Amino acid sequence: MSQYFVDRSTIFENEQVLEEEYTPEDLPERETQLEEIGETLSSAFNGGTPNNLFLYGKAGQGKTASARMIADDFEALAEEKGADFTTIFQTCSGHKSSYQIVCSLVEYLTGEDPNGLRARKAYDMFYDALDSVGGTVTIILDEIDNINDDTLLYELPRARDNGHIEEAQVSVIGISNDSSFQDNLSPKVKDSLNEEEINFPPYEADQLRPILRRRVEKAFVDGVVNDATIRLCAAYAAQDKGSARQAIRYLYRAGDLAANNDDDRVTEEHAREAEEIVDRKNITESIRHLTVQDHLALVAVTALESEGENPARTRQVYSVYKNLAREIDADAIAMRRVRDHLQELDMIGIISGAKKAGGSRGGKHWYWELSTDLGTTIDVLDDVDRLDDAMSTIV
Ligand code: ADP
Ligand code: MG
Repeated sequence: MSQYFVDRSTIFENEQVLEEEYTPEDLPERETQLEEIGETLSSAFNGGTPNNLFLYGKAGQGKTASARMIADDFEALAEEKGADFTTIFQTCSGHKSSYQIVCSLVEYLTGEDPNGLRARKAYDMFYDALDSVGGTVTIILDEIDNINDDTLLYELPRARDNGHIEEAQVSVIGISNDSSFQDNLSPKVKDSLNEEEINFPPYEADQLRPILRRRVEKAFVDGVVNDATIRLCAAYAAQDKGSARQAIRYLYRAGDLAANNDDDRVTEEHAREAEEIVDRKNITESIRHLTVQDHLALVAVTALESEGENPARTRQVYSVYKNLAREIDADAIAMRRVRDHLQELDMIGIISGAKKAGGSRGGKHWYWELSTDLGTTIDVLDDVDRLDDAMSTIV
């Protein structure tokens, strides 16, 4: 082998198994959820239109994997029974509105892109396309919390009653990383959807271990990864967000480190180093596209964390924020808007906020704290040029 390349074959047997796109064959840790989805879809085998469903839970909980698996099973079983079922998988990530989703679905179904046409026209094309598919059509809308209007969720369940669809029986499976998404749907939409909800709670360490063991068996050379390393990767992920995606990333990176170091085993030492690298990368990734106001709100929470003041009320964060804004000559915005930015940071998982009772008057207030590692967050923020003067206030 040329001097520039590394022989990874002593560590890895098949790296594809560790990649994001890999779909596992089974998900025993999600048996309960798979059963519930299966039960709901089963009415289709008897001529019914399945109830609409919502799968919700934080990132990395196997929602997408479960939906994909059940869709495959559903179609396979339908074929066996000679039933007319179709599932359509549509990710909403990268889209902002119902209109964009409808355009994307029309393009998928017909090859024509209705983008630019009036909304009504695009919806008509969509309904016609569904009618030509016919039979039972289950549309899976993944990462639906990206969509900032609920037109599609309102219209689709009523399309048949309203005479827009005549042939097809359509049901929706919405998937969301944000559990408040359903709560924020308007009563009108809730009523139209009449959906059942299935929760995917964060994985515990004892669920993450078998998930990792199954990957290790397929991805690594036999005996190269010891159980202590698997346990450590599972424990790190469980302590943080309970995400299987994160656990698998730690494991893959630990393998990388071993291969690049010419080590013949993947050890706990590699796992420790992997955790640091992956977390740093995650934080860097998630703050890369933030606005200067988001950045300042984050520096304020970070500063309070380093002083041991967290969880801190919005008012306290705001007073630090104002000083920071002055330090870097940015316009200070109102407290309410800073709270919106804090909520945004919560959504992407860098900080976490909770509404709690506190103070002498007993009212409920938002309290904020970092949900990422303090040292790593400071390191990452130190690399953001425009924050230099703000970061120098943190001791
Ligand atoms: P979500 O959609 O909830 O964010 P995914 O379904 O994309 O999560 O899962 C994240 C990663 O973890 C994927 O690589 C997936 O294959 C894997 N994964 C999740 N749950 C399991 C499980 N129970 N068994 C094996 N792999 C899993
Ligand atoms: Mg997903």
